[in-house]
Amino acid sequence: MGAAELSAGTVRPNLAEFADTVRNNGAGWNLPSAMADWGPLILRRLRTVWERCWPILRWCLPGTLALVLISGWAAYFSGGMAAVVGWLALVTAGQTLAPVSLMALLAHALRTRHFSRPMQVTFGLAAVAFWPALWGFGILTITFPFSLGTSSPSATVRLPSNEELLVGWGGDSLDTNYHAAYPDQRWAYDLLVEPAAHGGRDLADYGCYGTPVVAPAAATVAMAVDGLPDHMPGKASMDIKHPAGNSVALELHTGTYLLIAHLQRGSVLVERGDQVEEGQPIGACGNSGNTSEPHIHIHHQRQNPRGRPLNFSEGLPLYFRDHDGPPMPEGGLEVRDQKIVLTGATVRHAADTPAEIRAPLQ
Ligand SMILES: [Zn+2]
Repeated sequence: MGAAELSAGTVRPNLAEFADTVRNNGAGWNLPSAMADWGPLILRRLRTVWERCWPILRWCLPGTLALVLISGWAAYFSGGMAAVVGWLALVTAGQTLAPVSLMALLAHALRTRHFSRPMQVTFGLAAVAFWPALWGFGILTITFPFSLGTSSPSATVRLPSNEELLVGWGGDSLDTNYHAAYPDQRWAYDLLVEPAAHGGRDLADYGCYGTPVVAPAAATVAMAVDGLPDHMPGKASMDIKHPAGNSVALELHTGTYLLIAHLQRGSVLVERGDQVEEGQPIGACGNSGNTSEPHIHIHHQRQNPRGRPLNFSEGLPLYFRDHDGPPMPEGGLEVRDQKIVLTGATVRHAADTPAEIRAPLQ
């Protein structure tokens, strides 16, 4: 029903009369009969209210969308936690506000058969805001806008295991490191031990499972989590309640933190407040948290991850020393003959590297 029809003498429902009817009939009131009498009147009243509010409401949606987009893109250039919050606002708006707006527009257009100027503006903004929603599916993803040149301090530490490690994901670009789209995991690594990436459903078939994990640097334990189950490998666990699973956070002398995640249940050997030496065992590789197969996830961030949601931190550069590969080894994968082939670097800690030639934390 359009506004013109309403203004041309539509009978307005009298809600006070409706309330009196309910009161006076008391126990003898017949609900189906009352709804048949008053239902259409209430609907018409709601439509009237809607039509009166619509001139204001129709600019609320594009206004909100524009605000989110502007603040998000402003934060893109601001750095620090403002950038993190802006980024998360963009992604959240893309996943919630944009699809809701698009559906509301579609419903309104079908009802009114009219595509007004506010609707055109809203549609354009919602289409732009929808873009970050695609990132979750790996479509048109972009790197979180922190750069190696301007992010400090970086950390240069030893590898978190003495085993030969295959870099599943690592590096500065999305080609080699899917983590690069996430604020806190901007320069994270996923490290595996062969055999890996074969899709098997038995944890024991993965080389990483149970491999000792060591402290990559002397540090204070800021967080230690244990007791979460190791999930069946070969498929994404989708454990969004405990994404890091059993994990250890180490506070470095720079006041920044290493987060080591997905450890084996019952393997964590340290507690919050402990001082650990470089190379000291702290747990074992597992498959707890949000993961698809046993691997060691490690990243460097500015804020203490204890009690803080994942992603809500500034990621910082992380380099490895004491091995024969590059300081920031890269990962990557290809699909050949419908099989995943890991194409990342292989690195191994050089046990006998003299301490005096090790690069300090930067
Ligand atoms: Zn990871």
